[in-house]
Amino acid sequence: MSGNFRVRLLNRRSESRCCHAPPYVYREAQGGFVKQRCSVCGKNETTVSRDEAGSIKPALCCVSCERELDLVMAGNNYAYQCPRKCAPPIDMAIIADALDSLCHETNENVPT
Ligand SMILES: [Zn+2]
Ligand SMILES: [Zn+2]
Repeated sequence: MSGNFRVRLLNRRSESRCCHAPPYVYREAQGGFVKQRCSVCGKNETTVSRDEAGSIKPALCCVSCERELDLVMAGNNYAYQCPRKCAPPIDMAIIADALDSLCHETNENVPT
């Protein structure tokens, strides 16, 4: 499947038991929770621990006050929020989805 270019958030703090590869973060179909799967075989779904969520956190900053966003809990999900609370928290799942959809938009043959 060449031309199927995707990017994902990798959890480099962890290793899958099956392939000893870092798992990637994705949004669960129902509920919008973030989970992770082996980046090699796509199996062995696990939840993301708080420590792991901290290590996955990309460098994101607030456009209003330019402070780096903190990892917080929003409902039952991990999210990023400005320490000054300039805006509501952004779910980690939204970042994972955005990365994925960016790549789909640049790909003419999008697999379903
Ligand atoms: Zn695997
Ligand atoms: Zn801010």
